Amino acid sequence: MTRKCLWDESHTYESNGGEDYRHLCPACYFNIYKNLYSDKYQWHDFLKNIETIKIEHKINELKKELALYEQKLKPLNGNSKTVEVECLFCGEAFKVDPKETWRYACNDCFKTFVVPLRQLYDQKTIRTLISAFKEDHGGEYFELEDVLKFAKEYFNNKTDD
Ligand SMILES: [Zn+2]
Ligand SMILES: [Zn+2]
Repeated sequence: MTRKCLWDESHTYESNGGEDYRHLCPACYFNIYKNLYSDKYQWHDFLKNIETIKIEHKINELKKELALYEQKLKPLNGNSKTVEVECLFCGEAFKVDPKETWRYACNDCFKTFVVPLRQLYDQKTIRTLISAFKEDHGGEYFELEDVLKFAKEYFNNKTDD
């Protein structure tokens, strides 16, 4: 006898007379009831509450789907893990990807200071230079000009040694 599956009415199956298959097609009986709900519900409770369980099931599926989408969206929203690094120039903390903790200048200072200094010095020299400059200059506001002037003296003294 052809029956409709109680879990999903688009499923039809031939009832073989077995008690357990009476309301669900064999696939849903095993995949849904046995796999997912038999720990939680006795068979007759499952049948009694099947409409509620179906809704719950749908919600859980949607939640899983949502979690997947959220994971994909994370990098776009900037919610991915970031590390705070202190800018060597302005002293402000800025966020970087954990892979980029070698960065020592925020975007603004990178453009203002690092780009022009890179024409003259390598990264390591710039870092040393700025550390020395800051030590000498304290927390005062400074411009590229000040750094360049300091650099000239700093390296002249070095070669004199
Ligand atoms: Zn079914
Ligand atoms: Zn900065």
